[in-house]
Amino acid sequence: MDDLIIGAHVSFNKDTQLLGSVEEALSYQANTFMFYTGAPQNTNRADIDYELTKKAQDLMKENAIDINHVIVHAPYIINLANNGSNYDFAISFLKQEIKRVETLGIKKLVLHPGSHVGLGSELGIQNIIFALNQVIDANTNVIICLETMAGKGSECGITFEEIKAILDGMKYPEKVMVCLDTCHIHDAGYSIQDFDDTLKHFDEVIGLGKLGCLHINDSKNEQGSHKDRHENIGYGKIGFDALLHVIYHDKLKGIPKILETPYVSFDQNSKERMYPPYRFEIEMIRKKEYNPNLMEDIRAYYK
Ligand code: FE
Ligand code: FE
Ligand code: ZN
Repeated sequence: MDDLIIGAHVSFNKDTQLLGSVEEALSYQANTFMFYTGAPQNTNRADIDYELTKKAQDLMKENAIDINHVIVHAPYIINLANNGSNYDFAISFLKQEIKRVETLGIKKLVLHPGSHVGLGSELGIQNIIFALNQVIDANTNVIICLETMAGKGSECGITFEEIKAILDGMKYPEKVMVCLDTCHIHDAGYSIQDFDDTLKHFDEVIGLGKLGCLHINDSKNEQGSHKDRHENIGYGKIGFDALLHVIYHDKLKGIPKILETPYVSFDQNSKERMYPPYRFEIEMIRKKEYNPNLMEDIRAYYK
């Protein structure tokens, strides 16, 4: 049995749907994965195909991927923190998204709390609470995982206390958990170098039992920079050893860990020459050994 539950962001396109996502995850030697049900920056979504879903679920079973560890990420333009003209749309979109996730048989949906856009975080948080209580009801069969944010712009959910305030407002608290993103909390000001202290603080404020998934990313910037620029594992300001400590932490066993590190580019001018790093990052994590030739290995593999 594989103790480590590790995967990466994979694509989901309308022709192959979940089956394509599983195949991509397997090509990275991953035992879980995360995807958007369409483009992350828009809300155009195809209907879920029953046959493809069934085939995907069978392929997962054959390869010991537990569907309970698979994650959907809601599109990041959905903003529940500002009750302006897009608020009602965001609420109804999220209701439909939950239905899609349920149809796929997936149990966890990661959501950015949202940006208050000038209202202040207190009002922003109230808007998030109101919206989530509209979206989640007694029949909701998905757990919403609120993601900890880096503090870019007017984001809400940049401290554990802000996330806790949202959780405290939930009518169905058992249906809402937290997604901890290592790049985001580092950029928000928390230390990954002293991760035991950070985790202790998380436990005191929110509670470890509320941790539904982790995003494992290095960061291009210094702790507290509020920038949110992800970097490849071991190639940023957090570093390989600190991330490895998170990944293999005793208290985080059984919690899915998802890489959202940037594709590697070999030609700044061409989108076709961007390659996923995940197969090699996962290999490095499993071996617990930093690979100084990561970029060269990716290039050799995909050329
Ligand atoms: Fe995210
Ligand atoms: Fe993330
Ligand atoms: Zn991010």
